[in-house]
Amino acid sequence: MTETKYTRFQPITLANIAQAPQWALLDQDIQEAVRVVGQVLPFRTNSYVMDELIDWARVPNDPIFQLVFPQPGMLSDEHYHAVADGMSAGMAPKQLKEMVAEIRADLNPHPAGQQTDNVPVLEGEPMPGVQHKYRQTMLFFPSQGQTCHAYCTFCFRWAQFVGDTSLRFRSNDADQLCNYLAAHQEITDVLFTGGDPMIMKASVFSRYVDALLNDSRLDHVQTVRIGTKSLAYWPQRFVTDEDADDMLGLFEQIVASGRTLAIMGHYSHPVELSTEVAQRAVARIRNTGANIRMQSPLIRHVNDDPQVWRDLWQTGVRLGCVPYYMFVERDTGARNYFELPLVDCWKTFRAAYSSVSGISRTVRGPSMSAWPGKVHVLGVKDVGGEPAFILEYLQCRRPELVRQPFFAKFDPTATWFDDLEPLTADDAPMFPDNWPEEQEVQISPVNLGNTELPILVGADS
Ligand SMILES: *Cc1c(COP(=O)(O)O)cnc(C)c1O
Ligand code: SF4
Repeated sequence: MTETKYTRFQPITLANIAQAPQWALLDQDIQEAVRVVGQVLPFRTNSYVMDELIDWARVPNDPIFQLVFPQPGMLSDEHYHAVADGMSAGMAPKQLKEMVAEIRADLNPHPAGQQTDNVPVLEGEPMPGVQHKYRQTMLFFPSQGQTCHAYCTFCFRWAQFVGDTSLRFRSNDADQLCNYLAAHQEITDVLFTGGDPMIMKASVFSRYVDALLNDSRLDHVQTVRIGTKSLAYWPQRFVTDEDADDMLGLFEQIVASGRTLAIMGHYSHPVELSTEVAQRAVARIRNTGANIRMQSPLIRHVNDDPQVWRDLWQTGVRLGCVPYYMFVERDTGARNYFELPLVDCWKTFRAAYSSVSGISRTVRGPSMSAWPGKVHVLGVKDVGGEPAFILEYLQCRRPELVRQPFFAKFDPTATWFDDLEPLTADDAPMFPDNWPEEQEVQISPVNLGNTELPILVGADS
């Protein structure tokens, strides 16, 4: 049992990476790339990830090394050389910072209009720590949970981690959370997210839990979700950390309140479930009555292999976790390094899905969290002699469009929803370019034999 070896969490960053025993194993060009790319994209790991999850014999191709270490190909040649030359020429820190800021601005730091479009208002006040895009689910970003035990190099929230405060949205106000929920009886799910909310001390998280559970206005909230990568990056959080038992006690309280507690575990690769401490964390969480769902984006160099997904879902299911989403990597940051054509995402998903039993087929994907909603790539098929993507919304800003199949012109190089075009005029209303600003979209009803599927146009107003 390795649990006593890691009793205290120690982050590893650019400031102390050279002291890690594994640093000397890296070729010089890789060391340079970590330092150069690490100026632009956030870099953070820890001793557990370094010692237990990365197989150093496989570096640089090791999937977890690719997941947490900045790689040479993550910046364009132009950006890379600008930073590398600046550093080796001893550029003044202020100047270097300015250059880095410009490069970051080029990397689409806030995809899908998150910063501007999803911030709700309560009694005239904007609520910066709340996102409410889909009717039933509210996202809450506690300010104390805006970092992670290690950073994923592809993270779409990377901008929050590099100190650009204008890009942060968060709240430390439990009353605000409860007031918003009380004013929105349609919300059934509150999802704590970040960063990683499990970076919080139990004593801090308890303020939110106490507020939620003691508020008699919130009976309509039936599910509490916690989005976290701690199960992969620091499972000690639930096993040996000083306040591990206190955190699990809070989970028990949520369950005892008559609600479902769902831990949305971000798992990228089955190696994250292979250690004893990772498996104990899963077992201890499940003992509280919480359930664990698994989700992750499909990332080139990390998990672009159906076998990896099959192993991940099978191992997870064996431990009692429920496969939930396979996402398409978002259009931000080092996207050129990580992204895969949509057609390849679909093929990978299909190969993995068809190799597991129905118990693992709770997973949905590949799914793009795009501006209009979660767009599910169902497949590719000839339609009237023309190849097309078959798509549907799993979630949508316009709920009346959910689960209406539609077609886009096939494009073998498309990597994101924005790259796609409607196949015919019939499909155009499903694309947000064609959404009228104020009026509701009219979608013709689908004829299902004798039953007309009612389409609730304008139900969202
Ligand atoms: C994915 C997501 C949710 C949750 O959607 P579910 O399908 O209920 O898991 C909520 N809000 C936003 C903005 C999301 O991207
Ligand atoms: S754990 Fe989640 S929020 Fe943190 S860096 Fe990874 S993807 Fe981003």
